[in-house]
Order: sequence, then structure tokens, then C-alpha cells
Amino acid sequence: MAAGDGYTPGSGPMAGVLAGMPDVFGRLLAEHVPDRLGRCSACRNAGSGVVWPCTLHQIATRAADLHARGPR
Ligand SMILES: [Zn+2]
Repeated sequence: MAAGDGYTPGSGPMAGVLAGMPDVFGRLLAEHVPDRLGRCSACRNAGSGVVWPCTLHQIATRAADLHARGPR
């Protein structure tokens, strides 16, 4: 949790990879939705209560954004 290292899970290289796989990030966006307690429904099933938006949803959102912009 070092401050100022510039790393954010949602903007890592994984988003760039997922941007080329709309089926995958589309499913992530569909599954990783907040429940009525504001926790991720999909990640909650993994065992721990994760506050939404979870890391996977952030990555999928980033991927969808990259996909929408198209290849550079
Ligand atoms: Zn999740």
C-alpha cells in the first residue's frame, strides 16, 4: 500500500489484454455487480465481502473503455 507508486489495479496491463476480448470483459461487467449491501455479488461468492466496484470490475471497465476507443 505504498503511496505514490503510480500503480492502480484498474489500469494495469490486464485491462489492455481484456480490451481485445469483449466476451470476457462483457461477462465480468455483467457478473460483478453490487448487491443491496454495496458488495460485489461475484466476488462475494469467492468467500470474502468485497466492496463494489471490485478490482475485476474496475479492470473490466477500463478494458471496455479501451475497446471503445479502438486500436491506436
Ligand atoms: Zn467482483
